[in-house]
Amino acid sequence: MQKWNSTLAASACLACLVASGCGQEQVRALPVSEEAVSGQAAGGQAPRVERVLTQAERDKLTPDDVLKSLTDGNKRFVAGTLTSRDHSKQVREAALGQHPKAVILSCLDSRIPVEDVFDRGIGDVFVARVAGNFENTDILGSMEFACKAAGARLVFVLGHEHCGAIKGAIDGVELGNITAMLQNIRPAVDHFKDYEGEKTSANPEFVHMVAEENVRQTIDRIRAGSPILSEMESNGDIKIIGGIYEMKTGVVELITE
Ligand SMILES: [Zn+2]
Repeated sequence: MQKWNSTLAASACLACLVASGCGQEQVRALPVSEEAVSGQAAGGQAPRVERVLTQAERDKLTPDDVLKSLTDGNKRFVAGTLTSRDHSKQVREAALGQHPKAVILSCLDSRIPVEDVFDRGIGDVFVARVAGNFENTDILGSMEFACKAAGARLVFVLGHEHCGAIKGAIDGVELGNITAMLQNIRPAVDHFKDYEGEKTSANPEFVHMVAEENVRQTIDRIRAGSPILSEMESNGDIKIIGGIYEMKTGVVELITE
C-alpha cells in the first residue's frame, strides 16, 4: 500500500503539472451551466455552443451525471445535432489545464469518432484506443491517471459491432504482432465454447456475442487489475461501465451486468 501511496503522490504531482497548469491562474469561465453550454435557442434551432469545462464544474459532477452527459451526447450524435464548437477557442481555453470527466477505452476502428459519438469536445474526455478495446498494464495506468490523479468520474469501455479484432480473434488469425494482440480477446471467444451455432466471423450473432463478452471481461479485469479504480468505484467516486457502438445507427447501447 505504501508503494501505491508514494506512486499516487507522484501521480498527483504529475497531474498538477500536466492537468491543472500548476500555479497558474485558471482560465476565467463564462457563466456556469451544468454542461458549460450556451446559445441554444428556444425550439432548438440555434446550434449549441460549448466551452471547456472548468475544474469546479467537473468536480461537481457525479459518475451518474457524467454517464448521462455521454448518453445525452450520443442521442445528439444519432440525431445529427452535434454541439457547435469553436475548436480554435477551446484549444486556447484548455492550454492551461484539462479537467476531463471520463476516460473512454475504444477500439482502434476508424469508423468510431469517439468524441463525436458522445458529442464531447476538447478537454472533455480522455480516450485510450487499442484494437479490440482490451486493457493492459499501460491502459490501466492511464485509467488510474485519468481518475485518481486527474479526477475523471467514469470509465467507459466501448466495444462495437463488426469489429475486425473480434473477428480476427474468433478466426484465430496469426500475423506478426497481431497474433499476440488477439490473445487478449481470446478469453471472450472461449467463453462461448458450448455455443451451438457457427463459431466463425461469418456469423454476425456470434461476433456480436463475443464483442459484448469482451467488454464485460475487460471491465472485470479492470476491477481485478486496478485496486485503485476498484476502490474508487466501491466508494462511489467513479463508475465503470461498458457499451456497444452500433455501426448503422451510431447508437451506443449500454451493457448491463
Ligand atoms: Zn474493432
